[in-house]
Amino acid sequence: MPNTLLALNWKMNKTPSEARSWAEELKGKYAPVDGVELAVMAPALDLSTLVANLPAGVSFGAQDVSEHEAGAYTGEISASMLGDIGAAYVVVGHSERRDYHHETDAQVAKKAQQAQANGLVPIVCVGEKLDVREKGEHVAYTLAQLKGSLSGVGAAVVVAYEPVWAIGTGKTATADDAEEMGAAIHDLLAEQYGDKAADIRVLYGGSVKPDNIALICGKPHVNGALVGGASLKVADVIGMNDALK
Ligand code: PEP
Repeated sequence: MPNTLLALNWKMNKTPSEARSWAEELKGKYAPVDGVELAVMAPALDLSTLVANLPAGVSFGAQDVSEHEAGAYTGEISASMLGDIGAAYVVVGHSERRDYHHETDAQVAKKAQQAQANGLVPIVCVGEKLDVREKGEHVAYTLAQLKGSLSGVGAAVVVAYEPVWAIGTGKTATADDAEEMGAAIHDLLAEQYGDKAADIRVLYGGSVKPDNIALICGKPHVNGALVGGASLKVADVIGMNDALK
């Protein structure tokens, strides 16, 4: 069983100076927990500050990457740039990018392929909206989205199940909801990757906090969490990390 991954998604928060203060505060308070990996997904402009200031053993990554290798794509950031700075991960297909930037499953798959070609592990996000869950179609919907988003993508991947109705809303899926989807995702991964699927972590994301993370991540098919709001304060991050002991 791979390490549990506590992945933080700062979204569009923290200037480089704020990122530096956060990393310095973390350095003073962080004690690694056996079997738990902490990783910070920060705005690209914050990454060089994190390289210099994160405590040893804490990894970092970006929140998006170009689907192209290099060239005339103004404003984009390539996977080779992220790899060069030492990023380990990149989030692809977050629901905010799918919604606001109209990213398709095919584009998400290309971004994940670019990440892997440059030594990064993509964290591929999937999850249903409320209307889909209310119709009871959440498993079929999410698996179809995942299948499209993993097309041509190798097994060195992390999957984050993030029901859109639970992101930033304070509404958390129950631990059993997370487990139901985690198990269905692991089945799909086993079909696609065979034995290699055993090493693929499936995270849950959606209003995870220090007081609910242990219950959710205690489920056999939930191998960590992707955390937005509660990633911004070091005290909450320490609380979540310690809750996974
Ligand atoms: C996210 O942005 O991936 C997320 C899960 O946000 P929050 O924890 O705030 O719901």
